[in-house]
Amino acid sequence: MITRVNPGLKKDLVEFGLQDWNDCFHCGNCTALCPLTRNDNLFPRKGIRLAQMGLSEKLATNVDPWLCYYCGECSDSCPRGAQPGELMMVLRRWLTATYDWTGLSRKFYTRKSWEFSAIGIIAAVIIAIFVFLLPPANDLASNPEAYLNDQGGVMINSMVTGIDSEHFMDYIHTGDLIMALIIAGFLISNILNMFLKVIINDKTVRIPFRSYFTEFWRLIFNFGTQARFSKCDNKSYWVGHLLLMTGYTILFTMIVAFLPKFQIEEITPWYNWQRILGYYATFGLMYFLIYTTIGRIRKSDQKMRFSHPSDWIFIVLLGLTTISGILVHIFRLTGLPAMTYYTYVIHLAILVPMILIEVPFSKWSHLAYRPFAIYFDHLKKAARKKAAKVQFAAA
Ligand code: SF4
Ligand code: SF4
Repeated sequence: MITRVNPGLKKDLVEFGLQDWNDCFHCGNCTALCPLTRNDNLFPRKGIRLAQMGLSEKLATNVDPWLCYYCGECSDSCPRGAQPGELMMVLRRWLTATYDWTGLSRKFYTRKSWEFSAIGIIAAVIIAIFVFLLPPANDLASNPEAYLNDQGGVMINSMVTGIDSEHFMDYIHTGDLIMALIIAGFLISNILNMFLKVIINDKTVRIPFRSYFTEFWRLIFNFGTQARFSKCDNKSYWVGHLLLMTGYTILFTMIVAFLPKFQIEEITPWYNWQRILGYYATFGLMYFLIYTTIGRIRKSDQKMRFSHPSDWIFIVLLGLTTISGILVHIFRLTGLPAMTYYTYVIHLAILVPMILIEVPFSKWSHLAYRPFAIYFDHLKKAARKKAAKVQFAAA
């Protein structure tokens, strides 16, 4: 196989946030100290080397950046201050754009005007839809009781005039399912592209067919537990990440798949399953948001010292979505229909662009790429093990 050097790789990586890599003199300290690296798969130094040499095709087949959880221990120990942990982060952004066949991921990561414009357009469409459908402001102010149920709570599904509550829920639910299909279409096609680059294009290994099934549990297990992260010295990173991931996944699943059961007119007791799940998810998201916002402002931890614009956009969108969701809940319980409805529209105007942009093209996509990378890594490991056995038997 011909190995091509890409002289433009450094310039490309600079667009994804690379600062300087030439400080690295390959002492190997970072790899020796990394709690996640393995003898048969050494990182982060290998990735630094590939990047320095301009081997972009090899980098695209390499899943190492996804195996790193950015604990920052390697950067703390680098004698040259070369920030290897941050380089892994840059490579994850670059790989996300490399897997994405639409080119949107690259635009969103490297041109902030694209991301802001996309967020603005989607938000404007959501607001425009509701501006004509919400009850008149004077009616909400003069006759708020008409929008309350017999428990005194706001009837959330009656916020649209001309559509009865049952049908309003149908429309919202259909919109959710369409959104989920769009996201799944982009994400699955990008994962197939990742599979092509990582597994099919890597001619050094041949994956035994059986391994696709026997190793599959790793994908599910690592998605559900983020267990690799717990091997880093600072366990609070893993706890924060797990709370964020489980909270987000619960809310996403409830909103997209089970909205008619989740968003009901009745004000249920606090111990009802819908509210318990909602409170858990809110706690997880708020814990992560407070922790990461303070960390990034203070720059106290190595992993939070460098913030790319995409990190802040993610935090701001997630923060506004969470806070507006909490406010909708409070306004509903306290019987304030106008505030509930207006805040709900604002909530949707932030939530929908966040999901449509961040999940398939930006920061949230790592929730899918990382477990798949772990899965692909173990497929290759199984293939090498089998090849070694065959070689040994033949010798
Ligand atoms: S990044 Fe730092 S610790 Fe790692 S090999 Fe380079 S100089 Fe050594
Ligand atoms: S940031 Fe942590 S997990 Fe990532 S390469 Fe460095 S030491 Fe390993």
